[in-house]
Parts: sequence; structure tokens; C-alpha cells
Amino acid sequence: MKSCIFCAIVEGKQETSVVYEDGRVIAFMDIFPINPGHTLVIPREHYANLQELPADLGGEIFKVAMRVEKAIRRSDIRPAGTNFLLADGPAAGQEVFHVHLHVIPRLVADGSGFRFGRANRSRPNRQELDELATKINARM
Ligand code: AMP
Ligand code: ZN
Repeated sequence: MKSCIFCAIVEGKQETSVVYEDGRVIAFMDIFPINPGHTLVIPREHYANLQELPADLGGEIFKVAMRVEKAIRRSDIRPAGTNFLLADGPAAGQEVFHVHLHVIPRLVADGSGFRFGRANRSRPNRQELDELATKINARM
């Protein structure tokens, strides 16, 4: 995939700061970090979105992200918490169409926020929640 910036990173054609790599996964520093230590974990192979990504590779990515998160906590970055974020699709904010999991160290009151305001949320009744749970389960 010639036009993919993350494929260019995998191929060594794009400057990057590698945190970790193995045969299937690479982790590198986000070029516009929300906080110091903000890392992206990606598959070496190009998959535009989660629908294309094999489940076992998704597991590999998450495992690497957990290791990166632990390492960040052990470092002198000393975050107060962490957000794992995967934007899948433009509506979810995906801008680079090569699957990537963000590991975002959070500092107390870093001002970035990450809440969906009450105004955007509803309070469905139990029957509605049960129906949704059943509908989703039926497609698993
Ligand atoms: P998303 O909105 O989830 O698609 O996020 C894309 C992320 O990729 C953003 O956080 C960008 O800062 C990051 N990014 C884009 N280009 C590069 C690059 N060349 N090296 C590292 N991170 C990048
Ligand atoms: Zn790619």
C-alpha cells in the first residue's frame, strides 16, 4: 500500500522512533503526542480497519500495547493513568487507515479530557439494554 504512512514506517522509508518491534507488530512514538510517551502499536502488515484485521493479530497488538504501558509506568514518565484508544472508521476519528492502537499516558489534570458529555448519552430501560445485548450476541 504505497500511500500509507504507517507502511512507510514499517518499510523503514519514514523517520520514526521505534519503541518495540517483532515479526508482526511495531510500536513507535506518535509524532503529535497528547502527552510524552504517547505510543502507537500497529501490525506490520497493512489492514485498513478492524473488520480486516485477523483476531489473533488484534490480540498480539493488545499484548504489545500492555507491555508498552507497563514499561511507561516503570519509566520516569510516571503517568497517573493510561488511555488505550483505537479509532476505527472516520466517524470514530480514524485519520490513518492502517490499524493502530494508541497508548496514551495520562497525567492528572493534563487538560486533554476524554469524556462523552452527559448531554450525548441516554439512559435506556432494561428491556432496551437486554434487546441490544441479545442482538449483538446473535452475531458473535
Ligand atoms: P488516528 O486519528 O487514530 O487515525 O491517529 C493517527 C495518529 O497518527 C495521530 O495521533 C498522529 O499524530 C499519528 N501520526 C501521523 N503520522 C505519523 C508519523 N509519521 N509518525 C508517527 N505518528 C504519526
Ligand atoms: Zn499501511
